[in-house]
Amino acid sequence: MSDPRPNLKDFSPGALRERLARDGLPAYRADQVAGWLYGRGVEDPRAMTDLDRGLRERLAEEWTTRALEVVSVERSTDGTTKAALRTGDGAVLEAVLIPEEERTTLCVSTQVGCPLACSFCATGALGFTRNLSTAEIVDQVCRMREVLAGSGGAVRDVTNVVYMGMGEPLLNLPAVVESVRTLQHPKGFGFAPRRVTVSTAGLVPKIPVLLEQVPVNLAVSLHATTDAVRDELVPLNARFPLAVLLDALRELPGLSRRRPVFFEYTLLAGVNDSVADARRLAKLLHGLPSKVNVIPMNPHPDAAYAPPADEVVDRFLGALARHGVTVTLRRSRGADIDAACGQLAAREPGSRRAAHRPKSPEQPCSTRSATSTGSCASSRP
Ligand code: SAH
Repeated sequence: MSDPRPNLKDFSPGALRERLARDGLPAYRADQVAGWLYGRGVEDPRAMTDLDRGLRERLAEEWTTRALEVVSVERSTDGTTKAALRTGDGAVLEAVLIPEEERTTLCVSTQVGCPLACSFCATGALGFTRNLSTAEIVDQVCRMREVLAGSGGAVRDVTNVVYMGMGEPLLNLPAVVESVRTLQHPKGFGFAPRRVTVSTAGLVPKIPVLLEQVPVNLAVSLHATTDAVRDELVPLNARFPLAVLLDALRELPGLSRRRPVFFEYTLLAGVNDSVADARRLAKLLHGLPSKVNVIPMNPHPDAAYAPPADEVVDRFLGALARHGVTVTLRRSRGADIDAACGQLAAREPGSRRAAHRPKSPEQPCSTRSATSTGSCASSRP
């Protein structure tokens, strides 16, 4: 059942100060509440022992603090962990943890489904249900930290968060911005700015609006070097074609080699993987501080595309490098549990269709770890 009460996690620590000031509470009280919620992971106001009893009772009666419940957790052979999470009104979304040598990246969703309908993406095939609230985005961090803590052994806490799960973050900008504030606020989770990355399919007018409000890494899903191909892969391209997108990115203030734009480029066999594509990509990005993450397509039942053969991937990477493009290959992670890029579709566990499964859990690109840097939700500085 949906809880009609407001959720404390809809307010970043700064906004919570303002909100609770309306009830006559001083800023340090709001900070204490935030410290319990995010620093210590305590969600029951009655357990916030440094608040006086009356305030604890009042908070417990007037507010809710949880937004998501864990429905199921699936662990990949490579350590990637995907959880299905349920909202108060019964919608299901997914979040993915990707442990790597030096970091643990959490990939969060911003919408239930996605309206953009990119032709190779499993989430796009779901259609769109609704935006997530700030609390529902923030709670993905809370729930997944618990999943990590409960998984036994010496597990590191979440070190990086990428907004690369289900949905288009820039179509849900106010909630995304407020959630980033909670992630980065010292009384929130305290993530450093460069440890948070927001990815967009290219909603041009909203990009500067995001970056004016919060300091995050920007990732852009490019996937094609001609408008004809990009129109087919990312229908949003009809509104914001390549030249418009790249011009807008060039105008962003503060870009440098240390603060580049990250581009995602999903390689689809025979569609966007030619040497001519590599050359055009280099030309498109010329003079723009950028890093390209190449992701061989992760297959799933709803898309007719396939990843290119290893030699084709290598040829593409080589051509890009020769043209001076900084490029990394993302090793597919969690493919055996459909947790890889573009496979998030909140299916019931076990309902995947075997015929479309990759031949091995590590396919399509794990064999080339020398150049690989992680999975869909990782490899940000
Ligand atoms: N809507 C945002 C956030 C999603 S990020 C965006 O488009 O950037 C998820 C990334 O995975 C995007 O770059 C998306 O294009 C990519 N992706 C989607 N389906 C994929 C697939 N089947 N294989 C590999 N990457 C895929």
